[in-house]
Amino acid sequence: MMPDPIFDPDAWGLTPRQADLTARMRALATEKFAPRAARHDREAAFPTENFADLHEAGLLGICIPEEEGGVGADLKTYMLAAAEIGRACGATALTFNMHVSSCLWTGALLDRLDLDPAIHEAQRAARRLHYRRILDEGRIYAQPFSEGGAAAAGFKAFGTTALKVEGGWRVTGKKIFASLSGHAHYYGALCTGLLHPGDEPSRRNTMYLAVPADADGVRVEGDWDPLGMRGTVSRTLLFEDVFVPEEAELMPMGVYPSAARRWPHMFMTLTPAYMGIAQACYDFTVAYLRGEVPGTPPVKRRMYATKQMAVAQMRVMLEQTKGLWFQAISEARPDPSKDSLMRAWAAQHTVMENANELAQLAIRTCGGQSMLRSLPLERLYRDSRCGSLMLPWTAELCLDMLGKGALYEPGETDG
Ligand SMILES: Cc1cc2nc3c(=O)[nH]c(=O)nc-3n(C[C@H](O)[C@H](O)[C@H](O)COP(=O)(O)OP(=O)(O)OC[C@H]3O[C@@H](n4cnc5c(N)ncnc54)[C@H](O)[C@@H]3O)c2cc1C
Repeated sequence: MMPDPIFDPDAWGLTPRQADLTARMRALATEKFAPRAARHDREAAFPTENFADLHEAGLLGICIPEEEGGVGADLKTYMLAAAEIGRACGATALTFNMHVSSCLWTGALLDRLDLDPAIHEAQRAARRLHYRRILDEGRIYAQPFSEGGAAAAGFKAFGTTALKVEGGWRVTGKKIFASLSGHAHYYGALCTGLLHPGDEPSRRNTMYLAVPADADGVRVEGDWDPLGMRGTVSRTLLFEDVFVPEEAELMPMGVYPSAARRWPHMFMTLTPAYMGIAQACYDFTVAYLRGEVPGTPPVKRRMYATKQMAVAQMRVMLEQTKGLWFQAISEARPDPSKDSLMRAWAAQHTVMENANELAQLAIRTCGGQSMLRSLPLERLYRDSRCGSLMLPWTAELCLDMLGKGALYEPGETDG
């Protein structure tokens, strides 16, 4: 059965385009992704068929600008549509985000920055090739930036380097938790550009390169048998002196650090998967207490006051989560005010922590039979735990930044 929209278009004032895209995504996710989610989770298998469906539905280029042949969704529109995927399959929503990020960074986000016109022009020319690959050939892009050090949190230069050589770059390094490893066609890797061997690595020289998965020297290693988000296949990626041509540049050297600084809401794109999970936990609980979960006996449990109280508490938490998230994604823009940025951190923290809280409340409320592997709730519970771990805005780092932001103005110290 098709569920109601997470964000009702009338109630939340969605534009016709937002209403249309979220409806299309909800239909695809409900009919195709949800029935496959248990297998992808059980086998820790990448949802390749789901990406083929997204391509066929014309949604693989959801954030490719319209003038380049894509759907042209902006950050908020994409987030609303992606939450509908998260509700059906968290791993598909999370990996789709990695793919879509390559288009958002190079498209809607950069287009709204007042970069030097020559850089804009070069950037537009460079991205076209990647967009064509996605639109025409159904190519998918991963987003490996984590390295296990302080770089992914934004504190240090990336240890993966790209050395300038004739006709391109030579990439060397290691990325951990690279979702889509072994399944993406291109790895959109963040690395530190070096114009000469021996140059001092600097975060200012960060590069964003699309490394072809089949290039010599690209290797995927290690196993993948995690608690949750198992279908993301986030294994370790090695780049061993990999040559990539100049056309691999998704952004010119040095543009990424200023884009990341000026467009911080971009890091919220990891949340829709978990917003969808939060909604799914609530939906499951209501259906279960009404005796309406397919594959379970039609036993009603809704008449107990404790159940009514628990579901009421879940509804309060879900509404708080949705309200704060919707506000934060609605005000996303370049160079946000400090107040807006703090709200984004609060929203990120809220979605990631509340998804897990709602999942545990759902299990406690529904009871023992609800956590059997034949039902989706235990997968939602395991998947939901992963949200708070996503750098650079982990739940801990959000609190860290909020605490400092609340008590200190720029430049203030305590002597
Ligand atoms: C399912 C899943 C999919 C993922 N997919 C991707 C992907 O596609 N691409 C990708 O790049 N990464 C991906 N990640 C990685 C993720 O973003 C984190 O990098 C990873 O979880 C870090 O794990 P760690 O234990 O090495 O963190 P550590 O670096 O050991 O940090 C542990 C915790 O300490 C805190 N911490 C870290 N640095 C600081 C600091 N400087 N100051 C204060 N506190 C700090 C944070 O709260 C962090 O959670 C994925 C992770 C998961 C769970």
